[in-house]
Amino acid sequence: MTDISKNLKSNIERAFGFRLNNNQYKELRRLFYEIMQRENMDEESIMKEILDIPGIEKIGGRNKFFPIKAYLLGKRFPLASARAKIDAKSVFLADLKPALPESDNKWKKPFVPQKVFIEHNARDSYLAKRFYSAFPQAEYEELDFYGEYLHKHKFTLTDLKKPLVFIVKEKWDFIRPCPCTKNHLGCNYWIFNLGFGCPYDCSYCFLQQYTNFPGIVLPANLDDFFSRFDDFHKKISAPIRIGTGEFCDSLVLDDITGYSRQLIGFFKNKPVFFELKTKSAQIENILKVPASANIVISWSLNPQCVIDKEERGVASLKERILAAEKVQKHGFSIAFHFDPIIYSQNWERMYGEVIDSLYTHIKPPLRWISLGTLRGTRELKNISEQRFPQSKIFYGELFLGEDKKLRYPKFLRKQIYSFMLKYIRKYDPHTPVYLCMEDNECWQAVSPLLSSSEKIEKYLLSQ
Ligand code: SF4
Repeated sequence: MTDISKNLKSNIERAFGFRLNNNQYKELRRLFYEIMQRENMDEESIMKEILDIPGIEKIGGRNKFFPIKAYLLGKRFPLASARAKIDAKSVFLADLKPALPESDNKWKKPFVPQKVFIEHNARDSYLAKRFYSAFPQAEYEELDFYGEYLHKHKFTLTDLKKPLVFIVKEKWDFIRPCPCTKNHLGCNYWIFNLGFGCPYDCSYCFLQQYTNFPGIVLPANLDDFFSRFDDFHKKISAPIRIGTGEFCDSLVLDDITGYSRQLIGFFKNKPVFFELKTKSAQIENILKVPASANIVISWSLNPQCVIDKEERGVASLKERILAAEKVQKHGFSIAFHFDPIIYSQNWERMYGEVIDSLYTHIKPPLRWISLGTLRGTRELKNISEQRFPQSKIFYGELFLGEDKKLRYPKFLRKQIYSFMLKYIRKYDPHTPVYLCMEDNECWQAVSPLLSSSEKIEKYLLSQ
């Protein structure tokens, strides 16, 4: 991956007259690399700058490491360092790893599975039959339990996005509360856990780090999901927000699975808002069934230049907005997720244009809009860097937060949320706008009254 020369260590040691230990070199190499990526600079120009650090010649021996690192941190995080000294503990400086070879496992439209594994007890399911008839050429294999696949095949990162499908009978994990993230305000959302894995491939997708399994797992036993939901809902007897789309895209394979029609049929008379989240324009099945206002079809949005660079295989921004327009005209509730919002020099103009374009086609009010800035674990950054060497989003000003995830600093997040909210409100005074996985301080900056998960949930349910 790296454009860093083999001589960097010796060049620094020679120029400053001290020996770098392994950790020190690892950190400086990482800082050099990320500055080169962010600023389009070469190694030599950065060397020239550190040689000119004021007063460095007066510092003795190996202590020179500290002003060099501090200087590079300032250059690497210009916005944050202009406000306060960078806390080195909040910065993640991993060793550089080589990029993975370009994988063949790229989404090709339409989706064609290379191999379909079917659990024995799902053999006669409607889903298995749909796959047999849609993909007669694919290879099929039966197994007792889909996890057996891993006994025979060692999983590596290059296996992610292999066009494999596992048709299963889900036994345990039907409904779960959204875990949100430690020390942040959740919205009491529930996950209807229908499917795991996604043929799309987004550079920021947390599934890359969350999964040790290739392909897409599709449950065939929707009836079990429905009876589990009835049992679960009897116990809580309160309106809730629930949806698929946390561990997969809700609609990308809907032409094959036909999930949406069954889900809409089941949830349309329940006292819940049921959400299907997508980056696709796959709405044919949805337009064939009568609409119901408690069914929410939602799209994640980003400027087209972000989609082009960071979201492989998805529908374009225009296709998503036009699909939403049709679904809204058909009578379903619609919602949008600006998540992840990615900071760049022109972010205000870029996101402003997305909002302009959205309200050219869509009539407010909407069921809800969520806002969330880019975030991810350290491991996700490492994986994304190896799988998407052309992506620069993780070289943004991201610091480790209380939940140990990398995020933009609070001042920047607050600025982004305030701008987005204000811009949306130009067109749309009533749609509930909420923050996804944010802390109290960011909530206070945009909606001071929404200071607990219960209040946020009530706000979202009451509209
Ligand atoms: S569409 Fe969602 S689930 Fe699919 S790769 Fe992108 S972020 Fe992940």
